[in-house]
Amino acid sequence: MTTVERARELHGELVELRRALHREPELGLHLPRTQEKVLAALDGLPLEISTGRSLSSVTAVLRGTGGPGGAVLLRGDMDALPVQETSGAEYTSRIDGRMHACGHDLHTAGLVGAARLLCDRREQLKGDVVFMFQPGEEGFNGAGAMIEEGVLEAAGKPLDAAYAIHVAANLLPHGLLVSRPGTVLSACDELCVTVRGRGGHGSAPHLAQDPVPAVCEMVTALQTYTTRAFDAFDPVIVTVGRLSAGTQSNVIPDTATFEATVRSYSEANQARLRTGLPTLIRGIAQAHGLEVEVDFRTVYPVTVNTPDETGFALEAARELFGPDQVMVAPRPSSGSEDFSLVLQQVPGAMVMLGAIAPGGDPRTAPMNHAPSATFDDRVLTRQTALLADLATRRLADTAA
Ligand SMILES: [Zn+2]
Repeated sequence: MTTVERARELHGELVELRRALHREPELGLHLPRTQEKVLAALDGLPLEISTGRSLSSVTAVLRGTGGPGGAVLLRGDMDALPVQETSGAEYTSRIDGRMHACGHDLHTAGLVGAARLLCDRREQLKGDVVFMFQPGEEGFNGAGAMIEEGVLEAAGKPLDAAYAIHVAANLLPHGLLVSRPGTVLSACDELCVTVRGRGGHGSAPHLAQDPVPAVCEMVTALQTYTTRAFDAFDPVIVTVGRLSAGTQSNVIPDTATFEATVRSYSEANQARLRTGLPTLIRGIAQAHGLEVEVDFRTVYPVTVNTPDETGFALEAARELFGPDQVMVAPRPSSGSEDFSLVLQQVPGAMVMLGAIAPGGDPRTAPMNHAPSATFDDRVLTRQTALLADLATRRLADTAA
């Protein structure tokens, strides 16, 4: 039986697991119900299982019996988002204000599928596989916490490679597997600014110190700065997603605040932004005689695929599903990932997978994180087969 055929056999139970996860989404680093479901799904398999101390992660190690070899890590993230689901799916979220809007329910179920498949074929496996079930990808640095707790040393030997698949609700046609060597996802930082002035009557601004015009100038200056100071072919994006000041039209407030997400595509630009943005903001505040607090927080580094591992993963995908089912992306995508932290230490690749329903229009379908986003279950077979195949083949290489 081929890997894809075996993955297809597992499909029914994986869909069930995925839908159970979807109905009961959990947020952040603590996902007790999700962890329970994963542990139940892995129960009885010949795995060495450990759970996280500071987060509800699950690390499972499979010792291959097909001969000596290295170790490969496969990762699936498990957390949901604070989004009110409107997808209308029959397995829609039962928890108000929470939704698996980024498809991590599929990642979890697909990784369970790979574990099931590889346990069945343990005697063909030349080395060990580490299954990394990770909470807290959505801004909680769950990968960092798992690395701290030793996931990269779980096999007791150095990892030769690490792979992850991320599903996409739009942009890609159903089932298409896409990746690229080098930078594949942006770095992410957060900028939080509070400008402090002195409140007063709206009719007499000269007797107060108005923080509002200064904040407006800052928001505009951020856009000018990023387009003037950075190469257009190594771009920077700053989006101010929250801005607030004041209570009514004739009152000058004491303070005004805003928060921005900052995305960049190279380590050099991320480092430059770390000093450049606070300097710009402080300069404007100073020009207006206002005090300012600037908090620049690094969220995730840029995600960089190892060229060899990317080529290897895409070649495996071509052999499994056909050459027309695989594409090399012409440029990186604008999301960010804490799998970047794994790839800083282990060679590997992240692959995107089109999970739009067959026949859907990738250009108009709601995107990941949207309340109406839908992800098609049928891609579970591809996730399971590709992850299992990557581990098997890569370990065979390490043994050769
Ligand atoms: Zn995601």
